[in-house]
Amino acid sequence: NKRHIATPKRTNEILKKYGFFFKKSLGQNFLIDVNILENIIKHAGIDKTSGAIEIGPGIGALTEQLAIHAKNVVAFEIDQRLLPILNDTLSDYSNVNVIHQDILEANVKEVIDTHFSSDQEIHIVANLPYYITTPILTKLLRDRLPVSSYTVMIQKEVADRMAAKPNTKSYGSLTIAMQYYTHAEVVMHVPKSVFMPQPNVDSSILKLTTRAHPPVDVLDESFFFRIVQASFAQRRKTLRNNLTSHFKEKYNKETISTILERIGIDGTRRGESLTMEEFATLANAFFKLSN
Ligand code: SAM
Repeated sequence: NKRHIATPKRTNEILKKYGFFFKKSLGQNFLIDVNILENIIKHAGIDKTSGAIEIGPGIGALTEQLAIHAKNVVAFEIDQRLLPILNDTLSDYSNVNVIHQDILEANVKEVIDTHFSSDQEIHIVANLPYYITTPILTKLLRDRLPVSSYTVMIQKEVADRMAAKPNTKSYGSLTIAMQYYTHAEVVMHVPKSVFMPQPNVDSSILKLTTRAHPPVDVLDESFFFRIVQASFAQRRKTLRNNLTSHFKEKYNKETISTILERIGIDGTRRGESLTMEEFATLANAFFKLSN
């Protein structure tokens, strides 16, 4: 189908026509498999009323599918060289807006207000540039955008960490950072062969469904995230020892043990065994102590 950009043949034609060469530094690995794109679209839960935001459209492989399945699409692309290409490859679709901007610098909230109507469900969908997956997702989630879900292709290990359960190797502060704002689920693993050029790492599609409210009540969010990070600072250390290093200027080991006892969390446990609920209890207890 001439319509699909995401075939090796059509992708090669486009690259050749424009003399485009990949920039590794921008995480440019383009999708060349329509099946994978259809899977992404299906899991994103997009329909003809939806608004879609894409990060890094490349030559438009996924953008095209979003244009077909959603009501309208806004895509952020940092690489100036791709703008004339996208203008060409997406010329059949009048419902796509490409914005030439670094997503980390963008005011996405303002873009949403400008391009989508308030009754539209908005979904973020992307084959993310792997060198900045975590900064991008962290920024968008902290901004608390009015977005229903994030369906993203990312490095498999990172997806596993974001969707991890307690008491697993992948569970860590990144897990909590994501699951505080969303329900996270790995929807499928993806072979390297669906990309051009092939990346060095394996990939997964991760779906993050935004929560209406955080699953736990915390008194101070940044304090909570700092405690979580401190608890995982040295994974093989006990919770008590990690907290003792973290609070070394402030509280001694005895104070820390007393607090842990009071809230009923065994200080000889490791950070990786604590649920989000327990981290909230822990953070709130220390926050009250210092405020
Ligand atoms: N969506 C296309 C596809 O699936 O074939 C391309 C995906 S490629 C993995 C990542 C894309 O993100 C590239 O087009 C790259 O230029 C773009 N990109 C990299 N850093 C970016 C940033 N900070 N802001 C916006 N786009 C960025």
